[in-house]
Amino acid sequence: MNTIQAAVMARAGGGIELRIDEFPAPDLQPGAVLLKTIYSEVCGTDVHLMHGRLDQVPYPIIPGHVSVGKIEEIAGAVTDIHGRRFRSGDTVTFLDVHETCNACWHCLVAKASTRCPHRKVYGITYSAREGLLGGWSQRIYLKPGVKIVALPEGLTAEDFIAGGCGAPTGLHAVERAAVRLNDFVVVQGGGPVGLSAALFSLLGGAGAVVVVDPAPSRITAARTLGVDFTVDAASPAERISAVMDLTGGRGADVTIEASGNPGAVVEGLQMTRDNGTYAIAGQYTDAGDMTLNPHRHINKKHIDIRGVWGTDFSHLYKAVQLMARHMDRYPLKRMISKVYPLKEAEAALSDVEHRRVVKAVIAPNQDR
Ligand SMILES: [Zn+2]
Ligand SMILES: [Zn+2]
Repeated sequence: MNTIQAAVMARAGGGIELRIDEFPAPDLQPGAVLLKTIYSEVCGTDVHLMHGRLDQVPYPIIPGHVSVGKIEEIAGAVTDIHGRRFRSGDTVTFLDVHETCNACWHCLVAKASTRCPHRKVYGITYSAREGLLGGWSQRIYLKPGVKIVALPEGLTAEDFIAGGCGAPTGLHAVERAAVRLNDFVVVQGGGPVGLSAALFSLLGGAGAVVVVDPAPSRITAARTLGVDFTVDAASPAERISAVMDLTGGRGADVTIEASGNPGAVVEGLQMTRDNGTYAIAGQYTDAGDMTLNPHRHINKKHIDIRGVWGTDFSHLYKAVQLMARHMDRYPLKRMISKVYPLKEAEAALSDVEHRRVVKAVIAPNQDR
């Protein structure tokens, strides 16, 4: 293959445009891997990128941070965390975060590697001028040191991408929320992050899981995954009272916010029981402020509030293993609403933005 097609988000005259560009086939540095893309996902972050809502994005970029593909070329010996050598033809995914330094204050003292200032993210903080460093491309260039994970036996590319970046993020949220056996868990938002958080809460032994979302397509997806209850009421007061009714008037042991709406935070705090835990995973971009009452909503409730920022390798690795292990119980691929060829990337973005689909994926090597 001499030229490679990729969707490029370029800043043009103040706005952002999406177009298909051709790139030359890259030469591999020692330790690099070239992936033939099978699927790359379209998520809310890509919508934010399209509207220029993230800071310090080096447009033009090739979007697509979570992807799966087949290894086409390897320069030298590249091994996984168990020391097993990757081979051409392996179906793999990789951690989109690269260049976490393990040498700065954040990495070594705060032990908050997801806040490392040196980290780079495929599809977000690499420029298209630096190469094929995003998933909406027929090939993805995995730089030396990118953390690659082979999909375990039985987990298909389709199953994996159905979880997409929501899976490691949802798993991270459940870890931060410290869901315990028999906990009553409320998940605010039935998008990919919320559905994954619901799934991993069930696997973690939750006594009951409730997904709260007014969008019918998301409620249907939550039911497909087998959550115990869904709440689709339109007003915050109705949603809070629905959760109170389900918990004997006490509120949830754990509430996980995955809605992206700042107003959901004050609502979620009211859905959580005294001495419960509230984890915030859905505020990845600055969507604005909200008003809360520190006495009533936090202090008097003796509540534990936790932020969930980004993901590290452990979240991706564990999510992949758990998806493979529990594939039969949780038909993840039914969460994919639509597969788009590269040239329909713009339609995919618009469908995600307007919540016409739960999960959209791009198949850069398919024509239709
Ligand atoms: Zn660092
Ligand atoms: Zn994402």
